[in-house]
Amino acid sequence: MVLALPADCGVDPQSFHGTFPPAVFDANVVRRPVTASAAREFEESEMIAPPARMTAVRGPALTFTGDPFRDGLDATMVHEPDAIVAMADGKIAHFGPAGRITPLLPAGTEVVDYGRDALISAGFIDTHVHYPQTPMIASHGAQLLDWLNKYTFPTELKFADKAHARAVARLFLQENLRNGITTSCVYCTVHPQSVDALFEEAERLGLRLAAGKVLMDRNAPAALLDTAQSGYDESQALIAKWHGRGRLLYAITPRFAVTSTPAQLAAAGALWQQHSDCLLQTHLAESRREVALIKELFPDQQSYLDVYDHHGLCDARAIFGHGIWLDEPEMQRLHASGASIAHCPTSNFFLGSGAFDLARAIRTDRPVRVGLGTDIGAGTSFSILATLGAAYKASQLNGHSLSAGHAYYLGTRGSARAMYLDDRIGSLAAGMEADLVVLDMRSTPLIDFRMNEAGTFAEQLFVQMTLGDDRAVQATYVAGRPAYVRKTDANRSP
Ligand SMILES: [Zn+2]
Repeated sequence: MVLALPADCGVDPQSFHGTFPPAVFDANVVRRPVTASAAREFEESEMIAPPARMTAVRGPALTFTGDPFRDGLDATMVHEPDAIVAMADGKIAHFGPAGRITPLLPAGTEVVDYGRDALISAGFIDTHVHYPQTPMIASHGAQLLDWLNKYTFPTELKFADKAHARAVARLFLQENLRNGITTSCVYCTVHPQSVDALFEEAERLGLRLAAGKVLMDRNAPAALLDTAQSGYDESQALIAKWHGRGRLLYAITPRFAVTSTPAQLAAAGALWQQHSDCLLQTHLAESRREVALIKELFPDQQSYLDVYDHHGLCDARAIFGHGIWLDEPEMQRLHASGASIAHCPTSNFFLGSGAFDLARAIRTDRPVRVGLGTDIGAGTSFSILATLGAAYKASQLNGHSLSAGHAYYLGTRGSARAMYLDDRIGSLAAGMEADLVVLDMRSTPLIDFRMNEAGTFAEQLFVQMTLGDDRAVQATYVAGRPAYVRKTDANRSP
């Protein structure tokens, strides 16, 4: 059976040009140039533990101490032109100006100096993504509901085979690291083995990652359906196996209310009540046809969000994908509940779903938590820089200009906050988990040329999110370990 569609649904302006601050290294501290040979591009085999000895990176750094949408960039954005991030046992031990941190480093600490054209930040966070859809990225010609039937369901059927799931999971996580993504909130397929495959790979890499088995008991091919009971039982077993194991978290994952019966939504709500520290993820108001279909399927509920709310699925730690077509009472309810929206602009443009109004969602009298999502495979890029560029365009279509500083918050600490993980990831500070991305601010000949004209830090950041992509990622650190190092900088002009 396939989906039955209703007939007529119709800053800191500080520049780091000029003189780079002089080196202030202690004689005992080892400086080491950055090369890909320092680490294989990807580690392939056994479990990888974070380094116990302190290591450090040095270069310009950007982080946030709070929410710039609420308190402004001046009060929340920290741009340090010459910083050191020191890491030990998977955590950040010290962060601050190099002159202040260097004396705190134990003798012999290895400091990797990325130079003044780098930018060190907390690793990027993707709050909404489907790893099984990696093989179908860039598929032509469908909008949401047809997309599911034509591409998604046939692709997801293959994940009954665990070897296939493992191969895709491995490629997916490597692609994340190539793009500086250190945490993501991931939809698997209906098959429990698709969840095992992803968590096994993520555990091996030491990633903080949330994921869950998709629940679907109607409106999809028979081989992709569970039942309210079997979906509940399988999720329960996966939670027992994976939730809280190392850095892994479980996300209870009804795909959306079109493919779950009221009985299954109620079962998901009961499961979440038993495991309220799990995340809950689903889709909400992505396209207008979908919203009309929900009205047909749930005639007694006041709104799309009310369908989830009615079944106990609207609360803190819920992440709703998209949320483009929500009315004001739904926004009010999201705010009051503490639930989050995952803003997935490349996907929304690709499927023709709409342009999410970020400024409306974060309205200061009832701000809704918003994170950023790639939504692979409807999303068109793993690059968070490219996704932020698309977020800028979505805001433009709604009459607002998203600043580069606010955008970088959205891709890091803002997304951590949407996942209720901002006490652990998403910013550079002592005690936070040591997940970092190191950007190359001159990663292509055009960006290199354009950066010569960018006077302020805000301009430089905006160039990155408008022109940058995976080539801008020099290195990605997971729990203090260089999990990805770009092989060359051949893309740079001489
Ligand atoms: Zn999605």
